[in-house]
Amino acid sequence: MTQLSRSVRGLTVLVTGAGSGMGRATAEVFAAEGAHVAVTDYDLASAQETAKLVAAAGGSAEVWRLDVSDKAEIDRVVGEVAARFGGIDIVVNNAGIANFLKIDDPDYDAVWDRTVAVNLTAHQRVIRAALPHLRRSASPRIINIASVEGMGATAQLSPYSSMKAGVIGLTRSLAVELGPEGITVNCICPGPIMTGMTADIEDADKVVFAKRRTALRRYGYPEEVAHVTLSLALPASSYVTGIAIPVDGGHMARNA
Ligand code: NAD
Repeated sequence: MTQLSRSVRGLTVLVTGAGSGMGRATAEVFAAEGAHVAVTDYDLASAQETAKLVAAAGGSAEVWRLDVSDKAEIDRVVGEVAARFGGIDIVVNNAGIANFLKIDDPDYDAVWDRTVAVNLTAHQRVIRAALPHLRRSASPRIINIASVEGMGATAQLSPYSSMKAGVIGLTRSLAVELGPEGITVNCICPGPIMTGMTADIEDADKVVFAKRRTALRRYGYPEEVAHVTLSLALPASSYVTGIAIPVDGGHMARNA
């Protein structure tokens, strides 16, 4: 056995969209494991609420307002996070939006453009801004949150599905490109999870969907995704790169 660390204690993680759902759970889980967490979200109040939860549990987190569709803001906040904590070891590209609409909807172009900006362009920009800091880390990790919608698809979700497939492509390509430097790049493809994004779906509809479509017959919880993110971020997960892991209760595995 070598001495590969199974802990993120003392490492710095930057999480986008950490004011709600999986981003918040990710912040809480990493902080509980002793990481320094940069909680970022374009909704400052929700990010502050996440930091309060982290602090109440005895963890370490600081808040930045960050709209990931704004390149200048990304560059500034990434720089500030690195300066505050003395580097960045782990980036979790989590912020995302989803809108249902048909291909012939008059608003299609506007939704497409916004979805590209938040769900795909932002990922490469955050990664590029963080790269100089990741290159100085002993255990550099990039984890992108994609979706099972990047592997299969649901009707009327084509901008979202396209961007999530793009995130999987970005993940694989950067894993190959940055692999020689020891930087791992992976993505998680959540299935149906109880978050702000799915809050408008009626409980009864959630139950029907989960029973029909998942192996575990239920929706997942943000914490169940955050733990997989944590596991990919461990220094000991140094030989895992370029993969897209469904965390979906068996949604992708199930035919009938
Ligand atoms: P959520 O709505 O609870 O959280 C999303 C967070 O992103 C919010 O705090 C929101 O303020 C933030 N955000 C939105 N636009 C932003 C922007 N421009 N800049 C910065 N922050 C922004 O949703 P969630 O389900 O926790 O989503 C997290 C990720 O998981 C997203 O990438 C989403 O696509 C993905 N996902 C969700 C599900 C699901 O079932 N909930 C399934 C698959 C993938």
